[in-house]
Amino acid sequence: MSANTPHLTTPPPSLEAADPTATALLTIDLDALCANYRALGGLASGAECAAVIKANAYGTGSERAAPALAQAGCKTFFVATFDEAVNVRKLAPGVTVYVLDGCFPGSAEAFAREAIRPVLNSVSEIRSWTSFCSETGKTHPAGLHVDTGMNRLGLTPGEAEDAFSPGGAAQGFKPALLISHLACADEPDHPKNRKQLTLFQKVRKHVSGCPASLANSGGIHLGPDYHFDLVRAGFSLYGGQAVEGRPPLSPVVQLHARIAQIHEAKAGESIGYGAAQTLKRQTRIATISLGYADGIFRNLSASDTQTGMTGYISGLPAPVLGRVSMDLITLDVTDIPESLARHGGWVEIIGPNVSIDKLAAQAGTIGYEVLTNLGNRAQRVYLGAKGSND
Ligand SMILES: *Cc1c(COP(=O)(O)O)cnc(C)c1O
Repeated sequence: MSANTPHLTTPPPSLEAADPTATALLTIDLDALCANYRALGGLASGAECAAVIKANAYGTGSERAAPALAQAGCKTFFVATFDEAVNVRKLAPGVTVYVLDGCFPGSAEAFAREAIRPVLNSVSEIRSWTSFCSETGKTHPAGLHVDTGMNRLGLTPGEAEDAFSPGGAAQGFKPALLISHLACADEPDHPKNRKQLTLFQKVRKHVSGCPASLANSGGIHLGPDYHFDLVRAGFSLYGGQAVEGRPPLSPVVQLHARIAQIHEAKAGESIGYGAAQTLKRQTRIATISLGYADGIFRNLSASDTQTGMTGYISGLPAPVLGRVSMDLITLDVTDIPESLARHGGWVEIIGPNVSIDKLAAQAGTIGYEVLTNLGNRAQRVYLGAKGSND
């Protein structure tokens, strides 16, 4: 689809059902989320597909995402923090939950009490976990992270080899899952992918007899060599483009903002903070109720020398004028019929015309950052799964 072919698709039903007081609407399609889960499972060549639902399910809301994914057959979930895990445990009873950030000193008991599995990241974490297990006389399952090239979390391959050698710190400890994380999975041809794969295969020999997991969303697309026993899908589940040059799965998220005011200004007048942009013509301006406090980054602003983001009204482009402020954005609607650009009407910010990844590219960041910043203030409306929530 070329950039200037508007998608004149019908707006999501959530807009028509929106609360008249709603200023912005984040529409989350749970059926698309579940379809993406099944599609990723299909790509994983027989490996189990786990869902990564850290950061409130990448901003989509774990309250609804976790039960929907569990319903779609997901049995294993990854989160970053203990609190997130407790939440998932309540939302999807019976699933396995791993905490990627590991287990801080003194926290083992809390993990065991909640039946949450830490992913242990160091020899000292293994020590405290195994001594907790022997104190309680029970084997509490935990994962293990080996760092094959991120230099972020996990034992080095050398440490893992030593720890699992006879007399090593991990003797007698059998991880429930061995994981590592790819640094460049979004670039299929990056030589680092193969390097990490080779290292992971080597480490696996020392930690034999436990299931293994290497692939995130990007890694799933790298092919069967990378799938092992379990894949960890995050961004792709939520409709993001995980791999350069490869189309994303179904979009899950749409963001619309309400027009709070329409007014006209003359050529030569400036607009917004810093008077950063001067109008070149008599301009009709739509001020919409959304801003950087809603995750629409300030560097999506326009100025006299730079174009910024574009909103869409019934598929017609409305370019930003001047700076994005905390709660408001001004758009040029001069070329859009007055019947369409009207007070209380909706503007597409993320949707058929603007993907998460496109908006991210305009903001000089990645779709992950856009997604996880949305919805601080927008009303969330869910479509699909158990029906819409209005
Ligand atoms: C966040 C994360 C994932 C998911 O990555 P995506 O690129 O979103 O699929 C998988 N594994 C680990 C260790 C992570 O931190």
